[in-house]
Amino acid sequence: MEKAYSDIFIIGGGINGVGIAADASLRGLTVTLAEKNDLAGATSSASSKLIHGGLRYLESYDFKLVRAALQEREILLKNAPHLISPLEFILPHEKHLRPAWMIRIGLFLYDHLASHPSLPNAKKIDLENDARGKALKNTFKLGFSYYDCFADDARLVIANAIAAKEHHAKILTRTECISAHYENNFWRIALKKTTSNDTFYCHAKVLINAAGPWVAEVQKNIIHTENPFSIELIKGSHITVPKLYEGNFAYILQNADNRIVFAIPFQNKFTLIGTTDTAYTGNLDNVKISPEEEKYLLETANHYFKKSLTSKDINWSYAGVRCLQREEKHKLSEVSRDYKLQFLSNPPLLTVVSGKVTTYRRLAKEAVDLLAPVFPNLPPSSTANQPLPGGDLGTKQFEDFYQQLQNQYNWLPKELLFRFAKSYGSRIHLLLQNTTSLAEMGEEFAPGLYQKEVEYLIEHEWAETSDDILWRRTKLGLFFNEVDRKKLENWLDIY
Ligand SMILES: Cc1cc2nc3c(=O)[nH]c(=O)nc-3n(C[C@H](O)[C@H](O)[C@H](O)COP(=O)(O)OP(=O)(O)OC[C@H]3O[C@@H](n4cnc5c(N)ncnc54)[C@H](O)[C@@H]3O)c2cc1C
Repeated sequence: MEKAYSDIFIIGGGINGVGIAADASLRGLTVTLAEKNDLAGATSSASSKLIHGGLRYLESYDFKLVRAALQEREILLKNAPHLISPLEFILPHEKHLRPAWMIRIGLFLYDHLASHPSLPNAKKIDLENDARGKALKNTFKLGFSYYDCFADDARLVIANAIAAKEHHAKILTRTECISAHYENNFWRIALKKTTSNDTFYCHAKVLINAAGPWVAEVQKNIIHTENPFSIELIKGSHITVPKLYEGNFAYILQNADNRIVFAIPFQNKFTLIGTTDTAYTGNLDNVKISPEEEKYLLETANHYFKKSLTSKDINWSYAGVRCLQREEKHKLSEVSRDYKLQFLSNPPLLTVVSGKVTTYRRLAKEAVDLLAPVFPNLPPSSTANQPLPGGDLGTKQFEDFYQQLQNQYNWLPKELLFRFAKSYGSRIHLLLQNTTSLAEMGEEFAPGLYQKEVEYLIEHEWAETSDDILWRRTKLGLFFNEVDRKKLENWLDIY
């Protein structure tokens, strides 16, 4: 049985776990992280993929959260320009839901809560005479435009895991934490490899529970201590349909129940529609969209768009569960998304509850700051000014970087090169090292996925299964059929 010691041990390889791993290891702490499935295998690949302040949180007067999130939007845009892109949102006005003056004030506030915003300000648009109104029913005449950002949530997790690994963190995937006890001034953590059932132990000074929706279960059954927060589990689901409109902008659709649903351009050929908000008590390892949620999302889209959708149009769906701190609110959508951290020094245990992908970096910084009593010489966090792996483009604009790549890798089909540039940023050079022609990319499993990329994902990004590759490291699953998938799986079996 192997023994290993580290300063901190993190349970959970979602955005919060890997964010803390990156922050702590950049400050010189030794870190081990265990994820029972794949990195971003749960909530962190099932979000709406927005890096945003959350316009709707203004209605619940959550100004602190909105301001912090907008500041993070600026930092992340700078540090991961390949993974995060500005996106325009069109809000069609519905007089009986929210008056125009209220929306104008909200958008004014939203623009001004972001200090040093790099994105254009909100404005009014005439949907009757504007291309952005073309896909909508003729009843929508007035709209508003504002900016937020779209991100590849799962790849943001991978980028943080790489950052942590580059600073000597041990990232253990498909490794479940099965028990943790404090003895002789160290946590003794029992781990099980889920692929082989082999067990082994790690030791650490501080234990961090970043298990997302499993946080209470881990606290109770694995750490055997009280959960400091009373939590609520809320499921949210999304669907994708063949693209509903041309153009690279999204819609924010208001619903009669006061909730909002986004319609977002997705992977060139699709529109992503979501999300729902429903209390969840089911199996956390098998979260799926329900027929009621499908109906709700289709009805919302059909209320706004000229093109009418039925369930037959749905080509993919996914669902995730948020863990929120319980509040006495009438509606689940009104419960704050702000994160909560609790650090107990004896024994040293940090618990993370709730949060947003958008605010993960700030959460991680605050979490590691809380560990100062255990690590008195802790340097300050450096993640605000540190590009994420792949984010150091050598130029300010992603477009200039892509232009350079077109000259350097002119033998790669444009669509593939663009996907590589967006997914891997400057790490594209690592992926394509010693490769000078398409023939040297190896076997093509299906259009757009070559052996060279799969090998890179296995060697540098912890990929093991076809789902890891097709649904998290890439979204090529949308374009793969069963035969293509089997071909990839057969190849993985003998790799
Ligand atoms: C529908 C929906 C839409 C959202 N949209 C947005 C959005 O647009 N923008 C935004 O900023 N935020 C959004 N969020 C919020 C965001 O997705 C979450 O706050 C974030 O992903 C939570 O990350 P996490 O690391 O806490 O949890 P998770 O990503 O769930 O990670 C926890 C990990 O812990 C692992 N784990 C559990 N138990 C163990 C164990 N015993 N041993 C080892 N590993 C274990 C799990 O396998 C899991 O991978 C959305 C959330 C939902 C549900």
